[in-house]
Amino acid sequence: MPQFGKDSLTKLSTCHPDLQKLFNEVIKHYDCTIIEGHRSDEDQLKAFNAGKSKIKSGGMHNKTPSLAVDVAPWPVDWNDKNRFYHFAGRVQGIAQMLNIKIRWGGDWDSDNDLKDQNFYDLPHFELVTD
Ligand SMILES: [Zn+2]
Repeated sequence: MPQFGKDSLTKLSTCHPDLQKLFNEVIKHYDCTIIEGHRSDEDQLKAFNAGKSKIKSGGMHNKTPSLAVDVAPWPVDWNDKNRFYHFAGRVQGIAQMLNIKIRWGGDWDSDNDLKDQNFYDLPHFELVTD
């Protein structure tokens, strides 16, 4: 059974308990790595400047604990988009079973139409708080 490495566990520990619960279950079924949990204001600005985020501050990653987490299937191959879609589908299924409402960065409006996004953030999962 796959397990998170030390870095992933440290990053996951900065996330909301529901995200921890979700990905501690996901890892049993699908090897993956936590790219980022909580992001400081400084790191948020860096992400914005690098085009990895649409906002300069006040995002889901900037809350304490973080309401968003970036996760990639392991081993990471950023060019293998199909694998990110496959992984996200598994994550969403497991979230549903655990009754944890999430939004994924490949389908922001959660309508299962994957072609109507204006910003794709395939490793990004966030809690639906409204
Ligand atoms: Zn993110």
